[in-house]
Amino acid sequence: MSLLTSAEVTHRPTGAHGKHPGRLGESRRGSAYAGLMVSEREVLESVPTQLWIGGPVPATGGGTFPVHNPATGEVLTQVADATPEDAVRALDAAVAVQAEWAARPSRERGEILRTVFEQITARAEEFALLMTLEMGKALPESRNEVKYGAEFFRWFSEEAVRVHGRYLHAPSGTGRIMVHKQPVGPCLAITPWNFPLAMGTRKIGPALAAGCTMIVKPASATPLTMLLLAKLCSEAGLPDGVLSVITSSRSGAVTQPLLDDPRLRKLTFTGSTEVGKKLVEKSANGLLRTSMELGGNAPFVVFDDADIDAAVQGAMLAKLRNGGEACTAANRFHVQNGVLEEFTSKFVEAMAEGVTLGPGTDPNTTLGPLINEEQLDTVSELVEDAVAVGAKLRLGGKAPGGPGWFYPATILSEVPPQARILREEVFGPVAPIVGFATEEEGIAAANDTEFGLVSYVYTRDLDRALRVAEGLESGMVGVNRGVISDPAAPFGGVKASGFGREGGTEGIEEYLSTKYIALS
Ligand code: NAP
Repeated sequence: MSLLTSAEVTHRPTGAHGKHPGRLGESRRGSAYAGLMVSEREVLESVPTQLWIGGPVPATGGGTFPVHNPATGEVLTQVADATPEDAVRALDAAVAVQAEWAARPSRERGEILRTVFEQITARAEEFALLMTLEMGKALPESRNEVKYGAEFFRWFSEEAVRVHGRYLHAPSGTGRIMVHKQPVGPCLAITPWNFPLAMGTRKIGPALAAGCTMIVKPASATPLTMLLLAKLCSEAGLPDGVLSVITSSRSGAVTQPLLDDPRLRKLTFTGSTEVGKKLVEKSANGLLRTSMELGGNAPFVVFDDADIDAAVQGAMLAKLRNGGEACTAANRFHVQNGVLEEFTSKFVEAMAEGVTLGPGTDPNTTLGPLINEEQLDTVSELVEDAVAVGAKLRLGGKAPGGPGWFYPATILSEVPPQARILREEVFGPVAPIVGFATEEEGIAAANDTEFGLVSYVYTRDLDRALRVAEGLESGMVGVNRGVISDPAAPFGGVKASGFGREGGTEGIEEYLSTKYIALS
C-alpha cells in the first residue's frame, strides 16, 4: 500500500500561502485567515514575558529562553528564565499573603474567580491564538480549550462557598465533634505543554477557591498562556502574591528549593509518569501532600453490538482531540472480531476525509503540528516499530517533512501484541487497531497496561456497558462517548496514571485539610 494518503495530500505546509503565518511582525496575517479579530503581533505583545511574582519581574541575572512556534520552528519570543532564587521569591510572596487570602470571605474569593472566568471568556480569541502559536493545535481545538479551561474558574467560584464541615455529638456521650476544613497552604503546580491553559486552571481554580496561594511552573515549551492568565487574574483583583508564575528552562533545579522548603504544603503535578515518580520521591522528605495527574494509555473498546457509525465518530474525537496529544487520547482500539473490518474501514475513511494537516492558524486545518522534533521522532519510531513487527498501515504513516513538526493522521490494523505502540503513550494522531473475541478477552486486553486514566466502551447493551465499565481498571470510563472531560466531574487516574482528582466536588478537597475540634 502506498504511504501517500489523503491525509498527506491535504497537508498544507507552513507558508502554504507563501508566508509564515507564525512570523512576528506580520500584522493580522495567518490569524486573519481564521477570521480572528486579533493579530498575532497584538497577542504576543500583550503577554508579559517576565516572571509573574506580584507583577512582572525579570529573572535574577536577567536570563531568558526562547519559545518556539511548532508550525514553523521559529522563535516566537523570549521569556524570563527563573533561577532557584526566583522560585524562593515566589514562595516568600505566597507565604506573605497566605493567611490574609485564607481569611477572605469565600464569597469574595469566588467573585474574583468568577471575574477571571468572564475575562478569559471575553478574551477567548486572544487566548486561543496564543495557544495555537505556542503549542501548535488547530484554532478550533484552542477555542475548545479556552471554554474548558475558563470553566474551572466558574465552577470553583461556585464551589468556593460550599466548603462544609460537620458537627455531631460523640456517640459515647463524652463530648461534641466539630470537623472543619482549612486551606492546605502555599501550593506548587507543575503543568505540561499539551493544554497550556486548562492544565493550569484545573489547579488554580480549586486552590484559590479553597483559600490557598499557588506558584505555577508551566512547561518550558508553552509558558506564554500562563503568563497572560496571571496578568488577567491580577487585573481581576487577585491580590499580589496569591498566584505567581515562574517560567524556567531548568525545571528540576528551579523547583527543588521549593520541594525542600517546609513552608510549601502541597505539590500538584500534571505530566509524564516518569517525572511524576521523581517528584513523589523528592516530596517524600517533607511529606508534602501531592496530587499526580500522569500519563495514559487509553483503550477504546468496541463490541459487536455497538452502533459502529457512532463508534467511529467517538473514535475520531477520542483519537484526534488536541491532535492526539492528550492524556485522555485513545491509544489502542480493541474491536470485537465481528465488526473489526467494518469499524476499521469506516474509521480509515473518516480520518482520510475529515482531517487536514496544517498550521493551526489556517482555518482549513483540523490537525496541527506536534509540539517538537523529539515528539515527532517518538511518534515516527512507534509507527515504524509496529510496521516492522507486522502491523498493516492503513492510513498515513509518514511525516511530510519540515518546516514545522507535522505528522499525518495514521491508522494501523492487525497490530501484534509485541508492538511498542500498544504499551507506550503515543501522544500523536496514530490509531493502532487490534481484534478480540470475547467480552472477557476485550476487558483483559484493555487492562493490560500499567496505566489507568480513562477507557472508552461502545456497546448498545446497558448491562454489558456497566459490567465492562466496572471491570476496567481506570479512573474514568466513557460509555458511548469519545470525550469525557468536564469541569463538573472528577478527573483522574489509577495505577501509573496517578492519584488525586481535579474538577467536580472532589477537586477542591485536594486543597483542603481536615481539622477535628473536640468540644465538651
Ligand atoms: P513532562 O515532561 O513530565 O513535563 C511536565 C512538567 O514537568 C513540565 O512543566 C516540565 O518542565 C516539568 N518537569 C520535567 N522534569 C521535571 C523535574 N525533574 N522536576 C520538576 N519539574 C519537571 O510531561 P509533558 O511532556 O510536558 O506532558 C506530557 C505528559 O503529560 C503525558 O504523559 C501526558 O499523558 C501527561 N498528561 C497527563 C494529564 C492528566 O491529567 N493525567 C493531563 C495532561 C498531560 P519542562 O517543560 O521544562 O520540561
